[in-house]
Amino acid sequence: MVKFCLQCKNAFWGGDVCPKCEGDIPLLDAARPENQKYLPELNIDVRPKYFARSAMLLTCFGFIMALPLGMFIFIRGMSFSDNLILWAGVGIGTVIAVSWGCWAASHKLFDKQMEAVESKALDKEPQLD
Ligand SMILES: [Zn+2]
Repeated sequence: MVKFCLQCKNAFWGGDVCPKCEGDIPLLDAARPENQKYLPELNIDVRPKYFARSAMLLTCFGFIMALPLGMFIFIRGMSFSDNLILWAGVGIGTVIAVSWGCWAASHKLFDKQMEAVESKALDKEPQLD
């Protein structure tokens, strides 16, 4: 759950009061409809978290799917011919290619999404943690 502070324009994961501001400034829930009118001015703070999460999911998905796919290709290949080195190579190659491909794709996706954020709010300090 992403929450944000209207005073310092920072976004946080949960919590009731802002940990950065003096006094008890209440945090607003970014998912609530009545708070969504504040989101455009907070773009730089909220959107990178969502972008990073989708990039992370894509990378994770790639790494998880690469191994069964590589094994599948190896086993299928072995049933066609007994060339162990060839099919092991193709299988391992597939695992590496899919993992690296997903990692590279998620990196590109994140950079592309961040371009839109950065061009709109160059004067703001991005909060990426
Ligand atoms: Zn604050």
